[in-house]
Amino acid sequence: MNNSSKGFILCVCQGTCPSFDKMNFYEILNRLRQEKLVDWVLIHLTLCAEDGDEFLKVLLSGKKVEKLYVAGCADIMQKKMFREAFEEIGFPKENHVGIEIRNMDTEQAYDTIKKTITSEVGPSNN
Ligand code: SF4
Repeated sequence: MNNSSKGFILCVCQGTCPSFDKMNFYEILNRLRQEKLVDWVLIHLTLCAEDGDEFLKVLLSGKKVEKLYVAGCADIMQKKMFREAFEEIGFPKENHVGIEIRNMDTEQAYDTIKKTITSEVGPSNN
């Protein structure tokens, strides 16, 4: 891995939101790892809560993360909710890509995530 990395966070609304009922979080994360679509993956319960803000600041403050993909609610919602944390530590907001996967099953969610990441990264840079 080079000095900067591409990471993926699956944000699952505490794991209790009905919008995520039809998907297997671990299968999605494992497939992303196996296909090496990003450098690392993780799961977070509530990125838009106070501890989620804190987490984003700790994760991104070392300037090692070049691109951050977050699957969960809509990109536009994420942009609003993460804005302060990004601004506080100087993470460029254009380096964050939100991927909406609510109400999808595992297959649909994985395909949507993969499509977004590969169209962002481009085959020659992967
Ligand atoms: S950031 Fe979006 S997906 Fe994550 S907990 Fe908040 S509303 Fe749910």
